Amino acid sequence: MVWNVPEGNIRFPRFMYPHDQTSNWHRGQGLWADTPAKQWNDWKWQLKNRLTSIDQLEKFIDLTPEEKAGCRFANQKLALAITPYFFNLIDADDPDCPVRRQMIPRGEELTTAPDELLDPLGEDGSMAVEGLVHRYPDRVLFLVTDRCAAYCRYCTRSRLVSNAQDYNFHPEFESGLKYIEEHPEIRDVLLSGGDPLLLSDRKIDYLLGRLRAIPHVEFIRIGSRIPVFLPQRITPELCEIFRKHGPIWMSIHVNHPKECTLELKDACEQMSYAGVPLGNQSVLLRGVNDETDTMRSLLHRLLMMRVRPYYLYQCDLITGSAHLRTTVEKGLDIIRGLRGHTTGYALPQLVVDAPGGGGKIPLNPEFVQKITDTEIILRNYQGKIYRYPLVPGGGTKSGETGFENEEILVY
Ligand code: SF4
Repeated sequence: MVWNVPEGNIRFPRFMYPHDQTSNWHRGQGLWADTPAKQWNDWKWQLKNRLTSIDQLEKFIDLTPEEKAGCRFANQKLALAITPYFFNLIDADDPDCPVRRQMIPRGEELTTAPDELLDPLGEDGSMAVEGLVHRYPDRVLFLVTDRCAAYCRYCTRSRLVSNAQDYNFHPEFESGLKYIEEHPEIRDVLLSGGDPLLLSDRKIDYLLGRLRAIPHVEFIRIGSRIPVFLPQRITPELCEIFRKHGPIWMSIHVNHPKECTLELKDACEQMSYAGVPLGNQSVLLRGVNDETDTMRSLLHRLLMMRVRPYYLYQCDLITGSAHLRTTVEKGLDIIRGLRGHTTGYALPQLVVDAPGGGGKIPLNPEFVQKITDTEIILRNYQGKIYRYPLVPGGGTKSGETGFENEEILVY
């Protein structure tokens, strides 16, 4: 490693995260270099040419036996589909490629581990009308479609997304909109699915227009992985719709730094210029992003794309996902490794979405060591102990205590 020593003798590597330079980010048509650019950049062409079968995958990849078993079963659980654009990010020579692990089914999906459920968040029990989950008083989750541009093997809604399990989910806009209109306590609507940006411009314009016309709806947000799977969908026309009904907030879903391409960066910039505040939700996945350096690189790339890291989810207990789940301690270790070691804006909140519908519960490494009648005793990112008075003017001397290693302080 090359080190330089700047003023003040603080030592850090000169090239801490060389892969974060945008010159190293992916761009281009890759395996589809011969396709005319006009087609490649057409989101409908990308959808029409998705890889959806074992035969199509095998033209490009030597699938492992585990993957072949998963692909054969996929269409009974959660469809297999990958856009050509996103398929380019898969390393054909590496069965452990982090993008491949997320997208190509594996035989392990056939095994249901204890505690795994088809509806791990208990959403079905909170549906006010079909597709509208009303669990918290002031906000609703509006599932407007069951289709996505590509399918993630750990999807929390795999019971209904892609309809591989004959769930027969038929979201009906009008009954959802009517319910929201009739409930003045609803101030926040999250459009999700499936992926709302898979709807036509006309439908998105209609939905956003109807929601914006409801006086008590203050906050409209969209959860979408389309910018990541299909950045071609972020057209000037779509951005104009966002601008017209703005502010529309957007949570995208990026899990690994490889997914941060120059095409995604362009798409985020277009949305940002249209007044769309952007956040990111990642899922902590074994063999994908469960290393501190990988996560740090992802977070830095997100900031470079104008996207604020928002949540890092402990993977939900969805059936057949044990091979992709990692431990809660791992997530805490990663946050511990990041807090104080990178920009505060880069830090997502680690959460468990409580099984059965308990909502998002934040998980934080223990920085509070003890609270007494007069002071709070805190541990900083370097493990040093500090005290802060609880009572204004209470006289406790703040600052480093000098007894950093006294275990008695830890509870
Ligand atoms: S994009 Fe979202 S809804 Fe669609 S499969 Fe992936 S996680 Fe599920």
